[in-house]
Amino acid sequence: MTQEVPKGALEAVAAALRRADRVVALTGAGVSAESGVPTFRQAQNGLWARYRPEELATPQAFEANPQLVWEWYAWRRRLVQQAQPNPAHVALVTMERRLAHFTLITQNVDGLHRRAGSGFRFPLIELHGNLERIRCSREGLTFETWPKSEEVPPRCPRCGALLRPDVVWFGENLPTQALQAAWEAASACDLFFSVGTSALVEPAASLPFLALKRGAAVVEINPQPTPLTPHATHILAGPAGVILPALVQATWGERE
Ligand code: NAD
Repeated sequence: MTQEVPKGALEAVAAALRRADRVVALTGAGVSAESGVPTFRQAQNGLWARYRPEELATPQAFEANPQLVWEWYAWRRRLVQQAQPNPAHVALVTMERRLAHFTLITQNVDGLHRRAGSGFRFPLIELHGNLERIRCSREGLTFETWPKSEEVPPRCPRCGALLRPDVVWFGENLPTQALQAAWEAASACDLFFSVGTSALVEPAASLPFLALKRGAAVVEINPQPTPLTPHATHILAGPAGVILPALVQATWGERE
């Protein structure tokens, strides 16, 4: 990619990274956009273009039409399986390797951070679950694999209730432990990155503000402005797959 990287701001963030003790990165759908996984706000093509994701990713949608919601997730699962981690995911692995303390918090359900290698030194916090797992809609038992069934969605082998993706839908609570860990990391860090997220979906959207309140510097990496932009300490406007590798290079002279 030939996108211009904002040099002055990049140097300032590289210096902050070299000084930082505790670093947090919060990622959203934008970090996977360059892997070909569409964000919710990007126009979607084909079969699913007539549905708004916000109307499918809800418990009400699953109750009204479980087959439709299951099939939408099956389509997204196939898309993600064909996708590969991009240079932004890889740069975040380097940050985990290089920094004294690093916490990666993701709102993504695509598993691309783990496939890139993140989570090998510090826990990777998946705030919104993972679409590669499913769970029983009644008892919450989770499954990594499930047999193909005639019935869509398939049923829980234990209690017979419908199985659903193990993701957090709009209007649902986040997993308590993951949220607690994210909250603690954001409260204790001295440098916080908000990467590829529209900063609109709560409670993740509050994490950079919590970090700011506790005195951390906040860096936003996004080609578009968000509600966080006017508050960010540094803005690196551009695609994460260009900015993050450039930042790694500016900080440690390391090219991926
Ligand atoms: P969002 O769709 O609301 O916003 C995506 C953001 O990424 C936008 O601000 C956009 O400007 C930015 N962006 C687009 N391309 C980018 C790039 N190349 N580099 C950096 N930024 C880029 O996504 P959200 O804030 O994550 O919130 C929506 C919810 O939908 C979240 O729960 C999210 O996990 C979920 N979601 C996940 C996936 C996934 O797992 N890949 C995909 C779509 C939606």
